[in-house]
Amino acid sequence: MKIKFLVLLLASTCIIQAQQFTEQDTLRGSITPERAWWDLNYYHLDIEVNPEEKYISGTNTIRYKVLEQQKVMQVDLQPPLKIEKVTQDGKSLKVTSNGNAHFVHLKKKQKKGSYKEIIVHYSGHPKEAVRAPWDGGFSWKKDANGKHFVATSCQGLGASVWWPNKDHMYDEVDSMLISVKAPKGLLNVSNGRLRKLDKATNTSHWFVSNPINNYGVNVNIADYVYFGEKFDGEKGTLDMDYYVLRDDLEKAKVHFLDAAKMMKAFEHWFGPYPFYEDSFKLVQVPYLGMEHQSSITYGNQWKKGYLGKDLSGTGWGLKFDFLLIHESGHEWFANNITYKDAADMWLHEGFTSYSENLFLNYHYGKEAAEDYVIGLRQNIKNDIPIIGTYDVNKSGSGDMYYKGSNLLHTIRQLVNDDEKWRQILRGLNKDFYHQTVTTKQIEDYISDKSGMDLSKVFDQYLRTAVIPVFEYKVSENVLEYRYNNVIDGFDMPLKIYLGEKEHHVIPSPEWNTDKIEGQPDVKVDRNYYIEQKNSN
Ligand SMILES: [Zn+2]
Repeated sequence: MKIKFLVLLLASTCIIQAQQFTEQDTLRGSITPERAWWDLNYYHLDIEVNPEEKYISGTNTIRYKVLEQQKVMQVDLQPPLKIEKVTQDGKSLKVTSNGNAHFVHLKKKQKKGSYKEIIVHYSGHPKEAVRAPWDGGFSWKKDANGKHFVATSCQGLGASVWWPNKDHMYDEVDSMLISVKAPKGLLNVSNGRLRKLDKATNTSHWFVSNPINNYGVNVNIADYVYFGEKFDGEKGTLDMDYYVLRDDLEKAKVHFLDAAKMMKAFEHWFGPYPFYEDSFKLVQVPYLGMEHQSSITYGNQWKKGYLGKDLSGTGWGLKFDFLLIHESGHEWFANNITYKDAADMWLHEGFTSYSENLFLNYHYGKEAAEDYVIGLRQNIKNDIPIIGTYDVNKSGSGDMYYKGSNLLHTIRQLVNDDEKWRQILRGLNKDFYHQTVTTKQIEDYISDKSGMDLSKVFDQYLRTAVIPVFEYKVSENVLEYRYNNVIDGFDMPLKIYLGEKEHHVIPSPEWNTDKIEGQPDVKVDRNYYIEQKNSN
């Protein structure tokens, strides 16, 4: 067993954290030599799902482009699922295994630039999700009429918990066909568009024509009924399709009115919905919800807020269905712009948490949005940094949500031009369209487009768990101030109020002095996520 130690040094105090990672973590979380030489092109996942037996079986055809001539290929699949055989051009291949990683020994010459296919045959009783979507696997539930209500979820754990694939985020497949044979009388809904429903076998064929990440792929089987609408969007007419349990149809028709409001707000802030070709869907599931690409899964029990709760404590969080808005926001940040490494997961959750306040901004105004995002601060722990550990599938602090959104809200203040800020958000979705990225790329892009070097701001908020303190002393006609708890070179401009009067400062760790009028009360603008300390 190979063990890695990680030492994190934080700005003010020296906290030593030792984390142990295993060889399996490295095989799962890094671009191994057995992954690097081939580029994913196409998957055809073709399975039968048997809810009575909690059993699945079938194949995944993996088409790839050869980047470098190699012969050993890593495919991931988690036990208790088993690979039965792997073939290329009809011939069985040798497979050696190391835990969840399986190494396929190819016989044929892999000529650089050529496209090849392998077919992975597999079957078994997949891991059952006990606390979906937090743990992942299959949810084998029943609806109120006793009919099967089945769904998959696998963020974090990885899609290899239920189907064989290249289980790393850096390489997205360009398109995918998902064929699922479901029990008679039930419908399977997956990602993309329903290309064909084979009535004789009750097999549905869903085609995704855009790049998709592994954890975004899903299977949902239930006694679904359908309704939908056409949305007149920035890129034309968008099909918005909804699949809900038969008994919930009337409730859903009222509740999903939020969907078009969401689309309106997010296209305004982020640009066109990134998957017009594949449609937008909401699919009811027996768990809370997940950002499955072009088939957002929904289980917020037809309530506003988060299961009826306002995470911001301001009341604004009850104006919308949190799950519907949040998971849909991920279509731009997670499905369109996707992290390469789980360590950068804030790119999904920080931006999407931030999207909730922009939804409010669009429909209820700027003050409502500010109240909401500032209200979310009550959930920040500042325990460990937001950026996780690279190459071992390890994300950072849960603060990536609320602190992430408050970091972005703070940067909006620094940009101090809402139209410019909106163009930066739209530009991200345009310039990184359908790409997997690193946080560094996104940070540099925001610095570049805003015309400010924000590297120290990102370092402070993403790579330490320490919040800057604005320390000040005020006496007759003199304001003294400085930053505490900051990394070297941290020089974030700040808007403060002297009484009613707006005042701009650029503090540093050294004391600075400004001439002011009188001896007013000092207050940092509430939109900056920072602490203040009066040292008089
Ligand atoms: Zn999320």
